[in-house]
Amino acid sequence: MNHDELRDWSKRAADWAHDYHASLRNRPVRAPLIPGKIANTLPETPPEQPEAMEAIFADFEGILPGITHWQHPRFFAYFPANASPASMLAEQLANAIAAQGMIWQTSPAVTEVEQVMMVWLRQALGLPEGFTGTIHDSATTATLSAVLTMREQALDWQGLTKGLSGAPRLRLYASAQTHSSVDKAARLAGIGQDNLVKIPTDSTLSMKPGALAGAIAADRAAGHLPMGVILCAGGTSVGAFDRMADCIAVARAHGLPTHVDAAWAGSAMICPEFRALWAGVEGADSIVFNPHKWLGAQFDCAVQFLRDPGPQVKTLGLRPSYLETAGREEIVNFNEWTVPLGRRFRALKLWFTLRAYGLEGLRTRIRNHVTWAAEVCEALRALPGVSIVTEPSLSLFSFACGDDATTAALLERINNDGRIYLTQTIHAGRYVIRVQVGQFDCTRDDVMMIADVVADLMR
Ligand SMILES: *Cc1c(COP(=O)(O)O)cnc(C)c1O
Repeated sequence: MNHDELRDWSKRAADWAHDYHASLRNRPVRAPLIPGKIANTLPETPPEQPEAMEAIFADFEGILPGITHWQHPRFFAYFPANASPASMLAEQLANAIAAQGMIWQTSPAVTEVEQVMMVWLRQALGLPEGFTGTIHDSATTATLSAVLTMREQALDWQGLTKGLSGAPRLRLYASAQTHSSVDKAARLAGIGQDNLVKIPTDSTLSMKPGALAGAIAADRAAGHLPMGVILCAGGTSVGAFDRMADCIAVARAHGLPTHVDAAWAGSAMICPEFRALWAGVEGADSIVFNPHKWLGAQFDCAVQFLRDPGPQVKTLGLRPSYLETAGREEIVNFNEWTVPLGRRFRALKLWFTLRAYGLEGLRTRIRNHVTWAAEVCEALRALPGVSIVTEPSLSLFSFACGDDATTAALLERINNDGRIYLTQTIHAGRYVIRVQVGQFDCTRDDVMMIADVVADLMR
């Protein structure tokens, strides 16, 4: 395939994409879960000779039955992975350029557009001046970066060169409502899962600040080395929020840095009325949120704000001679802020999305989602046999219908039905069905259909 053929096929792909999106409401949201069904249709060996694009494209359509339609307006599972049309266009252009923005010199525009987008987003979220940011592939990577930085601050930068053997026992704190990416970071950073201390939560699902203070003091008394606190702003399970101001005050009193995981809920903070949920966040040292969830810049795009990038760059940055830019020691090389060296041009889709919809357009979408989630929650509450287990946190709530087995069986019927897609979690020992509203193009009718489907399928 050459670039002339690419032009023709790109047009065909654009037409295909248009028809695909137009047809989504008529497709079952979730793919049937039959292991091997797709793999068995593919040859076991790679082709030795070139194949015609016509055949390749036809086979691409053949794998669609194995696709779960994340851009379906009735996708209410997990969290959204919104891809606004403007973001898709930006990705096409970024793909065409295929620049690798590992250092400023390898494409000044890639770094500079990213810098400006971080300033835009900081203002959009109402964070104070002084926070700067960078884009990671995922919140997992941002949290790992923050945890590695906390570790090195605690070890006075000795871990990077000497390793961890002989170091005191490092201790990291978070509530049980934080995402498993925090557990993963504790494992990967050499801290060990057993040294991630899960602080109990109160009836509002916030970490208890007093329990946090007690755990830190007990660890110090035992000769351990507390290194930092991870706070939850919109937990994945049921949308829990730690009380930022109180927990950050405890961390600060003990001289510990804080990292806030707002991967999902951070997007909602473009609406000033929701900011009370994370009041005090401006005291954090690091904050991650995923525009690739609710905002509309498609995966992958995870933004980390830092009060002071210095410690993270000192932890993750290496500048071998082959990555130097002569006479430009002061320029920002974003690879030094994160784990991978290579970087795609991710800021472009933020730029296109923010401009094509404007903050006001994006706010309207998020406000609608929150309002409609509350409405469908009431419609479900009114159904005999349904109990709301957790009330809406922004646009996320959970319900059950009888015991765990009955609820699980209902969920299976819902997802086999195909009109909507919901997923489960365990809350306070109970199997519950999560509902989150957030797909970019969903309408109130799409959301209210959740109650119709549940009413139809309850037995
Ligand atoms: C989705 C999510 C993550 C993980 O996000 P990735 O970008 O996929 O790594 C972490 N924390 C929370 C609260 C999330 O909702």
